[in-house]
Amino acid sequence: VLIGLAILFAGVAILMSYMMSKKAMEPISTAFHRQKEFVGDASHELRTPLSVMLSSIDALEMTDGVEEDPFARKLLKNMKSEVKRMTGLVSDLLMLARADSGVVKQSHELIDLHVEARNVIESLTPHAEANRIVFHLHAPDEINVIGDRERIKQLLYILLDNAVKYSPDGGNVALTLSKEEREWRISVKDEGIGIHPDEQVRIFDRFYRSDKSRTRALGGHGLGLSIAKWIVDIHKGTISVESELNKGSTFTVNIPLDQVVSKARK
Ligand code: ADP
Repeated sequence: VLIGLAILFAGVAILMSYMMSKKAMEPISTAFHRQKEFVGDASHELRTPLSVMLSSIDALEMTDGVEEDPFARKLLKNMKSEVKRMTGLVSDLLMLARADSGVVKQSHELIDLHVEARNVIESLTPHAEANRIVFHLHAPDEINVIGDRERIKQLLYILLDNAVKYSPDGGNVALTLSKEEREWRISVKDEGIGIHPDEQVRIFDRFYRSDKSRTRALGGHGLGLSIAKWIVDIHKGTISVESELNKGSTFTVNIPLDQVVSKARK
């Protein structure tokens, strides 16, 4: 029996080490493919139940008895906002997972920054107005650059949304767009809570939130600026912040001008 067991253990050990060595030898392309598959599957698996939950909540809200019950309505409202928050978190996490695995294709389109900025401001205006915050856009009538339109819009959205989130009621948020000889620039200036100097280097880290933001019910999850940083990185640019506590913050993005565009515009 002992000999039999010893042979069995040895067999299992050999099999395991064979499998592990096979895994270690897995070609990079296979690992990449599997990562890509995982991100695709995870995206489907995580999003589907969330959207089912959201439509179920919508249906419940309209059910007889619930509509007239303030407590039930309040509970459903909380559930809805948490499901929405979770949906945002899932899409941010998947975005970063895709970025890590290199499966995100970057497009190079000719975009008018002024138009994109107007659209982003328009979509954020109800949120800003609810907090009596006013947007000011300073930009030339047309500001053509080459970049990935969706990502640049996302970058503007993250910076402007943060400016609103971290400002007291009644503040101003200024978005300035400019184009220099070699680069183009986005600057978002708010009159908000500001960021402590020790925290300024950490805010671009994943999941980092300052203590001040944690204590405020602001609904973030600390991934916005890491996505912003990734977007700036793929455009070969830089992002920085200048801030003073209780005075406000200015986020500045500089992106080198694509030579092809400069030629195309001449
Ligand atoms: P989130 O806003 O979801 O917490 P972000 O990655 O966008 O995540 O930001 C990280 C942290 O940086 C925030 O939690 C907040 O502490 C700080 N921060 C970002 N933008 C601002 C701003 N405009 N003013 C003050 N603090 C900010």
